[in-house]
Formats: sequence, C-alpha cells, structure tokens
Amino acid sequence: MKTAAEIEAYIGLGSNLEQPEAQITSARKEIAALPQVAEGAFSSLYRSAPMGPQDQPDYINAVMKISTDLSPMALLQALQRIENRHGRVRARRWGERTLDLDILCYGDQQIEQPDLIIPHVGIAERAFVLYPLAEIAGPDLVIPGQGTLSQLLTACPLNGLSRLPA
Ligand code: ATP
Ligand code: CA
Ligand code: CA
Repeated sequence: MKTAAEIEAYIGLGSNLEQPEAQITSARKEIAALPQVAEGAFSSLYRSAPMGPQDQPDYINAVMKISTDLSPMALLQALQRIENRHGRVRARRWGERTLDLDILCYGDQQIEQPDLIIPHVGIAERAFVLYPLAEIAGPDLVIPGQGTLSQLLTACPLNGLSRLPA
C-alpha cells in the first residue's frame, strides 16, 4: 500500500546508566522495529563527558538515521515510550539517565511547539551530536536555520569526545 511521503530524520541516543552500550544497542532495535520507521544508518558509539552536573558517569552517544512517515509528534511520542520502557526517570536537569532519545532533525522542517523543537536545541554546541551525525550524514547536511554540518563542526571543539572501537 502506498504511504505518505517518507521523511529522513535523525535521532540522537544517549545513556549513562545501567550498561549504557546495551541501552543504546537495544534502543536502536526498538526504534527500527517501530511501525512506519525504517533504519537508514547508525553511527559508531562515542563516549562524552556529562553536560550539566559533573557528578555522574560519562555518556555513551550515537546518532541514527531513519526514514519515516510518522508525524514529528507521533515520532516523539513513540521515542518517549521507548525511553519509559528503559526506566527513564527525570530527576534533575541534564542528570543521569538510562536512555535519552532526541529528534535532531526531521527533513528540512523547523518546528517550534511547547514540547517539540526541531532542529533540537543545542545541536550546534554539542560535539556528541555533531560528530556522530557527520559520520552518517556527511559534511553537507544542512541543519535548517543553522548552516551545514561542516560549518558547525568548525566551530565545535571535540570537548573530549572519543569514538569507541567497533
Ligand atoms: P536536552 O533537550 O537539552 O538535550 P534532555 O534531553 O535531558 O535535555 P528531556 O528531559 O529528555 O531533556 O526532555 C525534555 C522535553 O524536551 C521533552 O519532554 C520533550 O517534550 C522536549 N523536546 C522538545 N524538542 C524535542 C526534540 N526535538 N526531541 C526530543 N524531545 C524534545
Ligand atoms: Ca538530550
Ligand atoms: Ca531528551
């Protein structure tokens, strides 16, 4: 059956609790298994120092490309259900978590709703987003309203980000 036009979207994954690598690996499978979602690419795993409170473990991060005909809000809700299944608890801002799933980009759309902002806030300043994103999207991807990834990378130091061996 023919479906609505598919959009390419990028999801940022992060975890720093309860076996972060396993959290990311299983989240990848759960996202790929969502109805109306197909995996396009998955970056290497990266290790980053925490933002915000420093008394928490380092993070494991990755970025996943999908194609989907879910609306942005339906995609957000599906991702939040996965976070909840992973025991996500929101205790303090930028605090430790089993799983964080952020919609980084959704096609070329710019969205500003109270509970959904796309492109995701902070993309330009976050090495743990930009570097894995560039690994799978290439340097010419345009972040709507912000420029190409290569432009953004030039202005974003690694901040201790390291790529884990495959
Ligand atoms: P940050 O958003 O700075 O990375 P965080 O990931 O720790 O911080 P959360 O507690 O996971 O923040 O999310 C707070 C809210 O952000 C969510 O309830 C969601 O409604 C909202 N939100 C807005 N835009 C997005 C987006 N593009 N992807 C995911 N959540 C978003
Ligand atoms: Ca986040
Ligand atoms: Ca989030």
